[in-house]
Amino acid sequence: MAAKHINSNNNVPVYEYTDINTKPFHVGAFLSLWKETLTPSDYSFQDTPEEKEDAEFAEEMGVPSETVDELKAICSPHTLKSHPEDENLDKDVVPENPSLQTLRLRKKRQDYKETLLRDVTCRQDFYANELEILAMGKRPEDPEDLVPEGELILSVNILYPVIFERFKNVRPHQTFQVLGSQKLTQLRDAVCCVSDLQVSGEFSNTPDMAPEFISKDHYKSAFFYFEGVFYNDLRYPECRDLSQTILEWAKTHEFPTFHTAKMEDTTFNKLTIRIGYPYLYCHQGDCEHVVIFTDIRLSHRDDCLDQTLFPLLTHKHRVITRKCAVCHLYISRWITTNDQLAPMDPCLFCDVCFRMLHYDSQGNKIGDFLAYPYVDAGAFN
Ligand SMILES: [Zn+2]
Ligand SMILES: [Zn+2]
Repeated sequence: MAAKHINSNNNVPVYEYTDINTKPFHVGAFLSLWKETLTPSDYSFQDTPEEKEDAEFAEEMGVPSETVDELKAICSPHTLKSHPEDENLDKDVVPENPSLQTLRLRKKRQDYKETLLRDVTCRQDFYANELEILAMGKRPEDPEDLVPEGELILSVNILYPVIFERFKNVRPHQTFQVLGSQKLTQLRDAVCCVSDLQVSGEFSNTPDMAPEFISKDHYKSAFFYFEGVFYNDLRYPECRDLSQTILEWAKTHEFPTFHTAKMEDTTFNKLTIRIGYPYLYCHQGDCEHVVIFTDIRLSHRDDCLDQTLFPLLTHKHRVITRKCAVCHLYISRWITTNDQLAPMDPCLFCDVCFRMLHYDSQGNKIGDFLAYPYVDAGAFN
């Protein structure tokens, strides 16, 4: 028993470097430890009945239940009401001459806001930071899809690759919540990266053909790297083991032996990881994203409990989009070079302006230029 105890303690994440990353531990074993320690009611999604909660509170604080009742009455939100029960109040308007300091501040702010004239064209800004809140406490329509009690939730940051010049000095990322029982391929499919949407080739003679050549459909290989193991996506026959070259290179350079496994066969529970440690996701050959697990915990009733919504996107970095050089309104879809009609070289165009300028009404190419489909990094905003 003692031996088992020491052994299982290796799977409790402890810091390797304070505030940076933990030592490696096995995700599934950590979950088992949690379940050994806690009772099912600790991680149940059921709300504790109010009377029970009150009784527990009274016992914990060592006060009689009458005191708890009295406290509840005094602290009740009802006592905060400043108007009669039957009167409807507009909560957004602070009345004249408020006596409370907080209300005075709000009043000041409200008056100031009225003096502002704002031209808000970007509606998405309002909701930009609400991704996580949107899914909070969400229950599935079909009870079958309910996240099981005692399920692990891991938070993962996927950083943007450094191959984009504009991200050299910042570290923008997307954050996902994944379930311990989910497969690595589910996270891979949830990650959106413009590299997957790139279209390679020159299409000035056949602009309508371009959308057929999306990279994601052509180059399906990808891998995650965690703790000495390359997890390759080998779901499709055309997938290649991208890690092979790295493994061979490592062999000739006295690196410790690396292992490989299939991404589609591996759940997060089966992984050994360190929290806070930079790992790798590589796709499209050289699009490399740093992957960091930032948190591991048991699911809670206030979490999103709809399994079908996981991996759940909880944070998304939004980049400034590059607009068309002609209309300055739409996101660019084409990039041209050697273009006599363009004001610069290379030049970005939206689809409408590109076609209006470069083709006649029959769709014949006008003038000499080379045209490449362009996918803006902000296309996912
Ligand atoms: Zn990428
Ligand atoms: Zn345009």
